[in-house]
Amino acid sequence: MKSLPRKIETIIEPEPVVEGAGVRLKRSIATRRLDYLDPFLLLDHFASSNPRDYEAGFPLHPHRGIETVTYVLQGEVHHKDTLGNSGSIGAGDVQWMTAGRGIMHEEMPQVRPEGIAGFQLWVNLPAKLKMTKPRYQDIRSAEIPEIKKDNGARIRVITGTVNGVSGPVTGIAANPNYLDVFVPAHASLVQPIHRGHTAFAYVFEGEAKFSGDEKEDGTMVSHPRLVVLGDGDYVKVITGETPVRFLLVSGKPLNEPIARYGPFVMNTEEEIEQTLQELRQGTFVTT
Ligand code: FE
Repeated sequence: MKSLPRKIETIIEPEPVVEGAGVRLKRSIATRRLDYLDPFLLLDHFASSNPRDYEAGFPLHPHRGIETVTYVLQGEVHHKDTLGNSGSIGAGDVQWMTAGRGIMHEEMPQVRPEGIAGFQLWVNLPAKLKMTKPRYQDIRSAEIPEIKKDNGARIRVITGTVNGVSGPVTGIAANPNYLDVFVPAHASLVQPIHRGHTAFAYVFEGEAKFSGDEKEDGTMVSHPRLVVLGDGDYVKVITGETPVRFLLVSGKPLNEPIARYGPFVMNTEEEIEQTLQELRQGTFVTT
């Protein structure tokens, strides 16, 4: 089968959103423009050096039926939950939380001179795993392998495999790749992506073309933008005067119906009703 380049399908400008107890962030999935990019339910980008934008944090709240992935670039987020876990996520660290049948947790960015920067991605769980046992994968920055290319490009592999190097997060239903990619100025990078998987690039520093073909006259995409990629076997990224840094995320679509209500994502409205009833009755977290 001929190897096909992935072309840009849509470029989305993130929307300003106030979430939690008053955290200002940029949202590019779970918006009116892009409600769901199967299996990805939400993508938030937080970046601020003003404590008023983030210090209120995300006090105790529930999740069910999804995975929440927090990747911190700068600063520190303290977390604590009803299963007795607590700790902190610092610069370069990742927390991949499989909420499964239910968890209640708080996520509190700490006021630091460097402020806070990072991402939260929600990954859907298939129907058969929505009520699975909650699971945490807490990954320190030093555990994340970084691949260095001859042209100066670097890829941090959080989950998935690049050039035979696998990331530390494993056992995720969507079989995702989650990569943090840097490409220097006047350089290019070709990155394979499984055919049939949903894929996006989230450009958060600099700019690049995601031309996907031999021509190099494609659209220059400047940060912050979400680039939804069409299907194919690889993406080609080309920089000009400026380096670029972006998340490159892909995963297998579930193709299942979804019913979403805030922090819960199930398959049917009945399952959402059931969840809300458990919350009211105090039987939500049974572990
Ligand atoms: Fe949460």
